[in-house]
Amino acid sequence: MRAVITGGAGFLGSHLCEKLLDDSWDVLCVDNLVTGAEQNISHLLANQHFRVQKHDASLYIDVPGPVDYVLHFASPASPVDYARLPIQTLKVGALGTHNSLGLAMAKKAKFLLASTSECYGDPLVSPQPETYWGNVNPIGPRGVYDEAKRYAEAMTMAYHRWHGVDTRIVRIFNTYGPRMRLNDGRALPNFIYQALTGAPITVYGDGSQTRSFCYVSDLIEGIYRLMQSDEHLPTNIGNPREITILEFAQQVKTLTGSASEIVFKPLPQDDPKQRCPDITKARTILSWEPRVTLEEGLRVTLDYFKAQIEEMKRGQGQRGGGEQKTKS
Ligand code: UDP
Repeated sequence: MRAVITGGAGFLGSHLCEKLLDDSWDVLCVDNLVTGAEQNISHLLANQHFRVQKHDASLYIDVPGPVDYVLHFASPASPVDYARLPIQTLKVGALGTHNSLGLAMAKKAKFLLASTSECYGDPLVSPQPETYWGNVNPIGPRGVYDEAKRYAEAMTMAYHRWHGVDTRIVRIFNTYGPRMRLNDGRALPNFIYQALTGAPITVYGDGSQTRSFCYVSDLIEGIYRLMQSDEHLPTNIGNPREITILEFAQQVKTLTGSASEIVFKPLPQDDPKQRCPDITKARTILSWEPRVTLEEGLRVTLDYFKAQIEEMKRGQGQRGGGEQKTKS
């Protein structure tokens, strides 16, 4: 079996490459490295079943030879990243999805779209089932991501219904683990970096907004099962344990034994007030549910970030100073 994974050098894409290689697939990773990183896949380069094509999925994707599965994971995915890359985010969700679907159709391959809980916007229903249509501000700062992914879902269903392409759609909720970028601006890397360096932990708003954090190995297992299922409609994959952002900041502070103070900063526009997946469907049709607790997952992630910070300090030492800034 041969898979093409767009965004294969990103946080989730690289874990997916690894999973399929472990299962004896051939994998072609297509990534323009705008938010992905060579470092995420450097350990896979020696594997003869792994290839990398540095390419922007928003442009025509040329892949010689047979392909069995196209998995479209390319996109900036943190609110800070898609705010600084708004046009690229819209293009990779729209044109990138169209190109990836075209590739799947030409190769008679199956297709999986990495969609998002952002399709639900700032939800008025919680937990969010797949049947909820969402509450999205199309022209707000998050609209570039939300609407790109909603378009991507519509395009995927159109290719399925009109061209008969064998498609899947996963709606991914907040996921964390090794290979998240330390400076991607999201709550978890920010909090861990701030806690480890003694900087103030920046909670936006009053911290009463909720998120539900899924460890990356659980997410990848859910996606792997969805790939093998016959389900064409969107399926939520995430961890239903909901926590406020303030509680989350306190948990990171406790786990790291940090003396950092928690400070409050303005809440970004359209920041969803609650987010929690209803995973009844994944439980029923995929027999899937998350296994890794937040405590366990955070410990592994913390070790990863500690190593990253050490590496960064060594690099700065060699270059003679400089300071890493988190986006806050
Ligand atoms: N957040 C925060 N401090 C930070 C970064 C994020 O309080 O330094 C909040 C953010 O406003 C949101 C939540 O944490 O309510 C999760 O944000 P993140 O960027 O991780 O992802 P999102 O779930 O919004 O896509």
